[in-house]
Amino acid sequence: METLEQIEREILNCKKCELYKTKTKYVPGEGNPNAKIVLIGEAPGREEDLQGKPFVGNAGKLLTELLSSVGLKREDVFICNVLKCRPPNNRDPTLEEIKACGGYLIRQLNVIKPEVIVCLGRFAAKFVFEYFGLQFESISKVKGKIFEVERWGKKIKVVPLYHPAAVLYRPNLREEYERDFKRVFAKRQPTLLDFI
Ligand code: URA
Repeated sequence: METLEQIEREILNCKKCELYKTKTKYVPGEGNPNAKIVLIGEAPGREEDLQGKPFVGNAGKLLTELLSSVGLKREDVFICNVLKCRPPNNRDPTLEEIKACGGYLIRQLNVIKPEVIVCLGRFAAKFVFEYFGLQFESISKVKGKIFEVERWGKKIKVVPLYHPAAVLYRPNLREEYERDFKRVFAKRQPTLLDFI
């Protein structure tokens, strides 16, 4: 059975696509290896690329704040991205990059075996929906809903939400986002918070 450290070591030497040439640091993901909740973003941005850690820029600050508002610390969960290297100028990931890199995320999920997978934004949601055989239409159609799938001999929840960066760009989404976040996590207390 492989470990997160083994996967991370591979990521830190990855040359499966061209992004390793333009990145500063690889961003494998971080958090609790026994987390019941995994949060998945799209790809590292500028700050993440500099620090080698996921969600540490402005979007990350909002995410950390929202986690805290539902009683979760970053160390309670595992945070990662579909892509482990920053696309130049934060452009959208290409299909080739997602295909090349996606295996790492799947392996990370298979090691952690979380109860809840939170997909932040359309790229993460589309990837995770396809992996679990769920129908993905658009992020606005599915965001805030809870989808149940069977995996690892248990029922797990797939929860798509807007990407926090989208909420920073469109402040009018913030209220709804906070509401979705609280509803998804807090309404389900004590069930979800029991997982920690
Ligand atoms: N946006 C993402 O999708 N992931 C990060 O780690 C940071 C910003």
